[in-house]
Amino acid sequence: MIQIEEPIKTRIARAKQILTPNHRPAEVIFVQGEGVHLIDKDTRKYLDFAAGIAVNALGYNHPALTSAIADQARTLLHVSNLFVNEPQLALAEKLIDISFGDKVFFCNSGAEANEAALKLARRYMQKVRGENRYKFICTQGSFHGRSFGALSATGNPNYHDGFEPLVPGFVHVPFDDLEAVANAIDEETCAVFVEPVQGEGGLRVPADGYLAGLRRICDEAGVLLILDEVQSGIGRTGKWFGYQHEAGVAPDIMSMAKGLGGGVPIGGILCNNTVAEGFQPGTHMTTFGGNPLACRAALTVLTVIEQEGLLDHVARMGDYMLESLNALAERHEIAYGARGRGLWAGLLVDAERVDRPTFRTKALEKGLIVTQAGKDAIRLSPPLIVGRAHIDAAIEIMDDVLKEMA
Ligand code: PLP
Repeated sequence: MIQIEEPIKTRIARAKQILTPNHRPAEVIFVQGEGVHLIDKDTRKYLDFAAGIAVNALGYNHPALTSAIADQARTLLHVSNLFVNEPQLALAEKLIDISFGDKVFFCNSGAEANEAALKLARRYMQKVRGENRYKFICTQGSFHGRSFGALSATGNPNYHDGFEPLVPGFVHVPFDDLEAVANAIDEETCAVFVEPVQGEGGLRVPADGYLAGLRRICDEAGVLLILDEVQSGIGRTGKWFGYQHEAGVAPDIMSMAKGLGGGVPIGGILCNNTVAEGFQPGTHMTTFGGNPLACRAALTVLTVIEQEGLLDHVARMGDYMLESLNALAERHEIAYGARGRGLWAGLLVDAERVDRPTFRTKALEKGLIVTQAGKDAIRLSPPLIVGRAHIDAAIEIMDDVLKEMA
């Protein structure tokens, strides 16, 4: 372990000198994790309801995951896409098994997965269907990542500031509004691109039937449906993927990342056989995609989720967490409700009276890590292994923070 014997404040000051100022780091340095807890340089323990921003599906130091990673590191780390490798094939088979997909493409992050999805859709339209369909219909309040394509799809102007001109061909309509999508489609539309639940946008769950409605509209217009399951996928909502909450709905292309590697960077897309024709050798690649270490980690995450019955567990714990958050909101005038799905929920606060960075700092001081999303949500996205007692402890700390902030 790399452990520098200097106070945390000194190390944070050093970080500000040598890291580009993209982030506002909290006054803490974690050196270890165990289960749903993180431990800092001073050996203080924190309950982690951020999970590396909805990434660490199995929490920290899960024995199956750490030993699979160690074993793979000793065996074969990287070979590139000049060759296939067995962990990559096993992972692809598993992902196809648990989803609508016929084929998989691997990359390294959520933004990259979305780039692949968008590029595949455009290329399929141009080269396979021979049509000049290049426009994407996206939603206001969405988040798809920071690369130029993903950023152009992102429906939040704050993230665009200073990066214009963006990639042309992205149209934004209100989320959870089928009519708006239908009206926006024209003969140049390539695909509709949405998150099944808007995560960064504030845990916004659409009305039942939204995805089925999108599927119908896309089919009627002959355009593709792409779902961004980067944050909602891999069990976060209590199903393998968010779209599986609506019977009979399947996208043409779906992106994933975050929870997939359980903390090891990996992303990818799933698609059907028809659309997959849009990619041919040499059209879209990345050096690390399908890396044996990342694929072995991801395969282990999926296996553990299955073996430990974590999808049902997430559904049960998710209901409990949402009920607890709603009850918490009822006790405080400065909070007005909760929303979300599975182990992915937001406490909605009166943003005029609750400064959320201050809320997060106070929670951290009391030993709880949370994030924020949208305009008014304190976001909880704990590891999928979280238990009732952890949820109770988190709610108690949030209760204290709200009392202090009232
Ligand atoms: N898509 C969604 C829905 C996300 O929530 C995120 C990240 O928060 C991304 C894409 C971007 O993923 P990454 O940060 O791995 O590039």
